[in-house]
Amino acid sequence: MGVLRKTKHLEHVLQAFRQSSDALSAGMLLDALANEINKSTVYRMLQKLEDDGVIHSFLTMDQIRFYALCKGCSSGRHVDTHAHFQCTSCKRVSCVSEEIVLPTPGRSRITSAQVLLTGQCESCLS
Ligand SMILES: [Zn+2]
Ligand SMILES: [Zn+2]
Ligand SMILES: [Zn+2]
Repeated sequence: MGVLRKTKHLEHVLQAFRQSSDALSAGMLLDALANEINKSTVYRMLQKLEDDGVIHSFLTMDQIRFYALCKGCSSGRHVDTHAHFQCTSCKRVSCVSEEIVLPTPGRSRITSAQVLLTGQCESCLS
């Protein structure tokens, strides 16, 4: 029973990410799942999903951690080197799908980059 409930919760969290074209914060997930899952469970799930290479996280301009689905990452190995965009008017956050060319310091291997672009999104401009 416990395991079943857990799977259901995880499915709901993943569904929230799939249905949204934006990145989501833990607070937004809690709102979306309205009392269905408690706060610590959501944080645990996000941590697990990040460890599994399913989602990645980054900080926004207010230092709030946002999460979004990964593409091509695997357990223990993230390759999220894309930028993120935050609208300064509506505060929405999303992944920028275009790859950015990163400098490689020496023989280091870059596995993530914190590049946050800010400005006004399409709907706020129109
Ligand atoms: Zn990733
Ligand atoms: Zn906007
Ligand atoms: Zn992203």
